[in-house]
Amino acid sequence: MLEAAANYFDHAATSPVLPEVFTEMLPYLSEDFGNANSLHSWGQRARAAVELARSRVASLLGCFPEEVFFTSGATEANNWVMRQFEGPKIAYSPFEHSSVLETGRALGARVLPNVGYVVSAPGGSTTALVSVMTVNNETGAELEAPKIPGALCHRDVTQQLGKLPLDLTDTDFASMSAHKLGGPKGVGALYARGGGPLEPLLFGGEHEGGYRAGTLNVAGIVGFGAACALASDEMVERLERAKRLRGILLQALHKVPDWLENCHNANSPYVLSVSFLGIQGESLVVEVDAKGFAVSSGAACSSRSTEPSHVLTALGYSPERVRGTVRISLGPGNTAESTWALGKALESAAAKLRALAK
Ligand code: PMP
Repeated sequence: MLEAAANYFDHAATSPVLPEVFTEMLPYLSEDFGNANSLHSWGQRARAAVELARSRVASLLGCFPEEVFFTSGATEANNWVMRQFEGPKIAYSPFEHSSVLETGRALGARVLPNVGYVVSAPGGSTTALVSVMTVNNETGAELEAPKIPGALCHRDVTQQLGKLPLDLTDTDFASMSAHKLGGPKGVGALYARGGGPLEPLLFGGEHEGGYRAGTLNVAGIVGFGAACALASDEMVERLERAKRLRGILLQALHKVPDWLENCHNANSPYVLSVSFLGIQGESLVVEVDAKGFAVSSGAACSSRSTEPSHVLTALGYSPERVRGTVRISLGPGNTAESTWALGKALESAAAKLRALAK
């Protein structure tokens, strides 16, 4: 199954469901189809599977199962946390995913000041919630959240979960999606320290302790739990592999002129963001797609927009650098050979586009 994904280098957008995860999910799409809130045995089997998944997610997060609430993904979890607070009392980093940025804008929240990737505490009025992702989805930069006395801390851990060790010690809320770590799309969770109380975002049923209405996505949740269990076992190996493949990619790009790495001294090895000066990132994406490789020009949720990346813009990069950006994100299925071949495909695509531009 994963062999088909050898040339897929867009794992920050989404990653394939891992074979072991798929196998664990299947019964809950067929004979064990019960509603996890039903009293009969079908319901009880579904409930038991959901609770096992909750404990597996909690174990990867290092928290109690009662602190994990299943959602449709990180977008919902981000919306949910932010809507617990009065807008002007929320402060978020300029590097956040659009689900935080747009919710922040809609609520009238404040953007934290930054110098490079260093985000600092806001001046002035009181802050009740500070929201800073742990690993940026466009560049892989690892971010620190400023400590603000009296404020609760929300971290979007979507690009870190299952890839890098996670420490929730100073974290009150965390958002995540299963499909970034080998689980299915459309399922994720909100971690809430102490298990709430939370004001629901969705009303209409007693699911998830009354905090999140809607019939549970049992197969999806089972897949999320299985992906977390696998990630706990394989974390060290995955990390070593990503570092090795990243090294191969950098080596393959070594002879290409005029490109810059958009990284940071603390960077996830799974993401490599590079800017090819004088070229449009989208053109490179299309060129290498024609050679059978998937990379991206930025976050998937904004790759169809013509707006420049808000992340690279917040770093103060020149418009030329921002325009020429390509994001390569590593995951299962990528091999040393396919990674080297991608580097060479980028090299020839860059040469072709530059020759055309002359
Ligand atoms: N936060 C981050 C950091 C992400 O990378 C993503 C997915 N691109 C999300 C939130 C949203 O995840 P989903 O679309 O699965 O809700």
